[in-house]
Amino acid sequence: MTALVTPKVRTTIELKGLSLEELEELVALCGEPSYRGRQLFQWIYAGGCRQFEEMTNLPAALRATLVEEASIGALTCLDKQVSSDGTRKYLFGCADGRKIETVLIPDEGRLTACLSIQVGCALACAFCLTGMMGFVRHLHAGEIVDQVLALREELPPGERIGNLVLMGMGEPLHNYDATVKALAILLHPLGLAYPPRRITLSTVGLVPELTRLAASGLDVNLAVSLHAATDELRDRLVPINRRYPLKELMAALRAYPLPPRRRITFEYTLMEGVNDRPEDARELARLLRGLRCKVNLLPLNEAPAIPFRRPSHHRVNAFQQTLKSAGIFATIRESRGWDISAACGMLAINDGQKSLS
Ligand code: SAH
Repeated sequence: MTALVTPKVRTTIELKGLSLEELEELVALCGEPSYRGRQLFQWIYAGGCRQFEEMTNLPAALRATLVEEASIGALTCLDKQVSSDGTRKYLFGCADGRKIETVLIPDEGRLTACLSIQVGCALACAFCLTGMMGFVRHLHAGEIVDQVLALREELPPGERIGNLVLMGMGEPLHNYDATVKALAILLHPLGLAYPPRRITLSTVGLVPELTRLAASGLDVNLAVSLHAATDELRDRLVPINRRYPLKELMAALRAYPLPPRRRITFEYTLMEGVNDRPEDARELARLLRGLRCKVNLLPLNEAPAIPFRRPSHHRVNAFQQTLKSAGIFATIRESRGWDISAACGMLAINDGQKSLS
């Protein structure tokens, strides 16, 4: 009788996404001092290295153990589209076959990367295509960080990603733990070493997580997607407002510890006849009075599935003027990458992950 042979299933520990402390613990298990963890952290994040054999300052025995027991995964670049305005949209495949989009926006000589945080989004904002896609899953910290590493590999020599905005698919504060872990790696001097003012986290305003973020000490820029200055309207446009109404949101923001000279950005997508009237601007100015902030006006990016229209230039300018007269600083954000569906609210993948019905 032949013996029953069970095929050996090799499971390795995935290192990308591990924090410095976790890598230090890992090397300690291999009997190595903690500075080996720091070296590993540098190789993976600062160096973007994926082969243990290349980590030449690590002892051969440690490298051999890592080759056996660990791996360093990476997103696969599946597609790249370039807009007539220079904006580039990348389609990345995750290890489980899920897909995400990351956008690279050239602006005045510097590149801004717009990172995704989830596959899809659970928040169902009424005018956002990612919201219509529904929620598929959270990204891991490694998948968030790897968008920057993967983009870096795509860039010609000499080009650098100067700014990071967490404004792609998904809601960062709904995926709080992975977001905070990824930010720590992106900010760490031995990691990607981004200065906090070069990173912006954009949120619909999940109040408990905003309070946690405030206490975390990660002083990245904060952008809040507001879109309405009354609960009645915001309940319709941003349904999570029913759970965290404006009074609670604004109280959390007024208590937010802003570094000196820093302001909170409020994003306000303008929709014709919905939230773009002069009285809407005056209501908005009243709501924001006394807060260190600026308003970023985004004329709606239209799509067949979105039941709203973009206002005329005239109405957009008038809205900005009303805010200015009420003492609120406001800019109009020119839409980028619209022709390749890379603009705000346009990121949605419809390949059976979840249908856009
Ligand atoms: N969930 C986070 C991160 C996404 S940022 C947040 O909402 O802040 C994406 C930004 O694009 C948000 O401000 C969102 O409200 C805005 N947006 C969504 N759909 C849009 C559309 N069709 N036109 C213009 N802006 C849109």
